[in-house]
Amino acid sequence: MIKIYVAKHSGFCFGVKRAMHIIDDVSKSGKSKPIYTLGPIIHNPQTVDKLKKKGISPLDNLDNLRSGTVILRTHGVEKNLLKELKSKRVDVIDATCPFVSRAQDYVRTLHENGYKVIIVGERNHPEVLALKSQIDDAIILESLKDIVKIKNIETQRVGIVSQTTQSIENFKAMVNLVMDYFKEVLVINTICNATSQRQESAIALSRKVDLMLIVGGKNSGNTMRLYTLCKRIAKSTYHIETEKEIKKSMLKNVKSVGIAAGASTPDWIVKNVKTFIKKIYKEELKND
Ligand code: SF4
Repeated sequence: MIKIYVAKHSGFCFGVKRAMHIIDDVSKSGKSKPIYTLGPIIHNPQTVDKLKKKGISPLDNLDNLRSGTVILRTHGVEKNLLKELKSKRVDVIDATCPFVSRAQDYVRTLHENGYKVIIVGERNHPEVLALKSQIDDAIILESLKDIVKIKNIETQRVGIVSQTTQSIENFKAMVNLVMDYFKEVLVINTICNATSQRQESAIALSRKVDLMLIVGGKNSGNTMRLYTLCKRIAKSTYHIETEKEIKKSMLKNVKSVGIAAGASTPDWIVKNVKTFIKKIYKEELKND
């Protein structure tokens, strides 16, 4: 019989669960309609589609926004965009994850205390853009290649924070890099606990199975990082959004499957993946 294991820390994290509850409360309350999210509330296309069916759509921009309620995404919102939004006649509900808000607070505090702020993260990720927007001159370090950005900075005091879903490995590598260039380096590890636990449990699981499936949005940064971390350990690691991407060939000679899901992956998708694997396996047995 095939063994299927789900990583201990998998699926919706605290911040995503909180955001989904907020959406639920808003949709049941008397808040003005239509209801929007500013950008996709989380990076999971299947969840966003379900919300659309309930009449809650993501907004790409504020150009045609005249009325209704706008819910801010878990990743936070760029300062200018928030200012523009607040100038409109709409209700604004904040579903920014408190851990993201805390990272934004650190960016502002470091800046106010005279530190040049460096953010370790993906330069185009909404959370990182929102973090950067808190002050005028923050620097984003995404990879070691970004060294050129810090080489000629005329300061000796820098403060470093991280995108909340970075891997600790990448964050440490960037901190080491920065320490070569500045006398005073204040490091604030803003990676959230949910991310660290998720990554550790996925890595541990990938060590003991024949096949590792990372389930989550292809646009989800934290899911992509789970994939990268596990792929280094288990060559047979695949990133899928739903069970529809599982091919029978992936399961050939496989006796154990590990499933790890990103912070924005709902339980029902993980359940579908498990059910699908069991079904394929039963069909295979029948044909033996
Ligand atoms: S991954 Fe962490 S920071 Fe991001 S929403 Fe979840 S709990 Fe919040």
